Amino acid sequence: MISELRGTSLREEDIGSGNVLTTEWRPKLDFAFDPGVAIGQFLQGLKEGKLLGRRCHQCGRTMIPPRMFCELCFRRNDEWVELKDTGRVNTFSVSYVNWDASRREKPQVPAVIEIDGASPGMGILHLLSEVGESVKEVMARVKVGTAVQAVWKPAAQREGSITDILYFRPLS
Ligand SMILES: [Zn+2]
Repeated sequence: MISELRGTSLREEDIGSGNVLTTEWRPKLDFAFDPGVAIGQFLQGLKEGKLLGRRCHQCGRTMIPPRMFCELCFRRNDEWVELKDTGRVNTFSVSYVNWDASRREKPQVPAVIEIDGASPGMGILHLLSEVGESVKEVMARVKVGTAVQAVWKPAAQREGSITDILYFRPLS
């Protein structure tokens, strides 16, 4: 019975012919990405040096990143609000590994920043910097609740991306 399920072995010519996908396959994929109304406006705000959130008048929450629908009230939320570019560290990590798993000499500090003016727990994931170059230094400098402020790219270099904010740094 098992022998009937073995299938066909891979042959060298299958790989060479391009009939089988291998790690050498380099697709050419052209695509466009539509971020939607809420994130589209949020990204435009970043280009202008603003952090934009959405407010729901029914529950009173101010949400960032913004969304057009309140998931608690099950209704369209009501207005755009410009928030400060300051906030507090909700959580953070000290990482010696890059996004592609390569090793770093000095740590990177990803953090969730609760943005001032938004409802508790509302914030964005970004990087902290100017906080030290070792775990010991970072842990001495950063705590949950540490007040931080965005450091922006120069206006002419912004492109409507979360990287228009270079990083957040402690306020004191
Ligand atoms: Zn609501």
